[in-house]
Amino acid sequence: MTSRHDGSSGSDTLPVRDESLVDAWRAIIEKVGERPGVSYFDASFTLSDVEQRAEALAAELQDRGVRRGDRVGIYLQNVPAYVFTLLALWKCGAAAVLLNPMYRKLELRKLVEDSRPVGMVCAASAREDLQADLAGTSVSWFITAQERQETADITADALDAILDRRSGSRPAPVEVGPDDIALLTYTSGTTGPPKGAMNTHRNVLAAVDSYAALLSLDETDVVLAVAPIFHITGAVINATISLLTGCQLVLIDRFRPDVAVSAIAEHGVTFAIGSITAFNAIDALPDAGPAELSSLRLVYSGGAPIPPSTVTRFRERFGVYIHNVYGMTETSSAVIAVPPNTEAPVHGPSGMLSVGRPLPNVDARVVGPDGDELPPGTQGELVIAGPQVVPGYWKKPEISAAAIPGGVLRTGDGAVMDEDSWIYLVDRLKDQINVSGYKVWPREVEDSLYEHSAVHEAAVVGRPDDYQGESVVAYVSLRARAEATEQELIAHVRDRLAAYKVPKEVHVVDDLPKTQSGKIRRNVLRDRETTGWETGPT
Ligand code: AMP
Repeated sequence: MTSRHDGSSGSDTLPVRDESLVDAWRAIIEKVGERPGVSYFDASFTLSDVEQRAEALAAELQDRGVRRGDRVGIYLQNVPAYVFTLLALWKCGAAAVLLNPMYRKLELRKLVEDSRPVGMVCAASAREDLQADLAGTSVSWFITAQERQETADITADALDAILDRRSGSRPAPVEVGPDDIALLTYTSGTTGPPKGAMNTHRNVLAAVDSYAALLSLDETDVVLAVAPIFHITGAVINATISLLTGCQLVLIDRFRPDVAVSAIAEHGVTFAIGSITAFNAIDALPDAGPAELSSLRLVYSGGAPIPPSTVTRFRERFGVYIHNVYGMTETSSAVIAVPPNTEAPVHGPSGMLSVGRPLPNVDARVVGPDGDELPPGTQGELVIAGPQVVPGYWKKPEISAAAIPGGVLRTGDGAVMDEDSWIYLVDRLKDQINVSGYKVWPREVEDSLYEHSAVHEAAVVGRPDDYQGESVVAYVSLRARAEATEQELIAHVRDRLAAYKVPKEVHVVDDLPKTQSGKIRRNVLRDRETTGWETGPT
C-alpha cells in the first residue's frame, strides 16, 4: 500500500515481513544478543538474558497447558516480567491480553469473560484480589511478578522462583505464523463497549518496522518506556520495537516524571514516546533542566492532541522538540508521524498541530460520508489501510466488518490532509473522551451512574483540561424524593471504574437537555463544558 500523495515522509513502501515476531526476535538475538536488553532500576539484562528467561517461562507456560491460539492475561506495570511474558507467549503461539492494572473488578471481569484467558501474569500484590474477582472464569492459574515497592514474593508461582527452577529449559517448538494473534488489546474503538482488537504478528511487526525505519532506530539507541506496556503504544513502540531493533529498553514501573528524568540521564536515553501528559509532568518538575535530557535524540507524543504552546514551552526549557505521532489500537500503534527533526505545521483554521504524515506502508485518506476520497484541504473522516491494521475484533465479525470494511479502518477522527500529506485532526466524530491518551466511553460511566439508586438520568461529557487534555464531567438528575451528593456519586463510580474514568465533577440538575423525541443531548452539555457556560438545564 502506498500513501496517496508521494510526499517526503520517508520511503513510501517497505518490504512487509512475512514472518512472526518470534522469527524477527531470533534474528536479533543472533545478531546482537550480548548487547544491553532491558534495564529496571538496579537490574539489567542483556538481550540474551531476556531470551533465556523468555525460553524458561515459555517452557513453564507449556507445562501449564498454554497452547497455540490460547490467551493469557497480563496485569502489570512496566516491569521486566512484562517483556519476558510477551516473548514467552509468542513462543507458545499464544496471545497476550493486555489488561490495565487500573481496571476495577467488573471492568476486568467483562474483558476476561470476553477473551477467556487460560491464566494470568500479575503483580504479586494483586493476586489475592484477582483470584477472588475472577473466580469462576476461565483463568485457572496465576504467575506473579514483583513490582518495585513490593516485598519479596516467595510463593511457588513467583516468576523469579519459576525462572530459577526452569533455568536452561526450552519450550517445545511451536509453529507460529504472521497471522497468529500476538496481542488482544481492548478498546472502545469508534463506538461502543470495549472489544478486543486482534493485533497479529504481521500487524505488530509491520508497525515496528515502519516506525523504526522512519526514526532510523538501531541497537545503539536507548528507549525509555514512558507509555504503559498495557496500552498499544507501550506494547508495540516502546517494548517490542526495542526488542526487535536490539535497542536497550529502560523500564521504570509506573511512570513518574522525576524517575523518568533520572533514568534518561543515567542511561543516556535517546528515544522516548508517551502521552503529552507525561511531558507536561516533566515540565512541571521545578528542578529539571536541559542537561538531564541532553541525550534525547527523538521525543514523540501520541494518543491525544498536543497544544502547539506545549511544544514551544518544552523546547524552550529543555531544548527538546516533541514530535507528534498518531495511531490507534486497531492500527497496532503509530501509522502517522512527524518525521524526525521536522517541525509539524499548524492548521490555520483550527490551530491544530499536524499529527504528521503517513508512515511507510500506510495508506491514509480523508473521505466523505459516502466513502469517497476528498480533495486536499477538505474535512472528512480519516480512514487507514495497511499491514498494521488489525483483521478485526475478537469474536465480533459484524462490528469488525462495519469498522474495517474491506480492510480499511474507519478511525472516527475528523481530519484534513493538505497537498503535502500533512494530516490534521480537526474534529472527533466518535463519542469518546480523551484523558491523557486513555479513552473513556461516556456510556460506560453513565451506566455506572445509573447503578446508583438515586440516579434518574445521567449524561457524561469531556471538558478541556490543560494538564490531561480532557476530564470527565457528569450531569445527573435524581429520582423523585431521592438524594445523593456529588461526592457520593463520584465515590460510587470510583468503586466501579478505573480512576481515569471517574468524573471530576458531577452536576446534579433538575433535568437534562433532550431532543423532542426525549433523547439526551450530550452535545449541548459538551458545548457548555467547552465554552464554560453556566451549569443548569437548557
Ligand atoms: P487508542 O486506540 O486508545 O490508541 O486511541 C486512538 C485515538 O486516539 C485516535 O482515534 C485519536 O482520536 C486519538 N489520537 C491518537 N493519536 C493522536 C494524536 N497524535 N493527536 C490527537 N489525537 C490522537
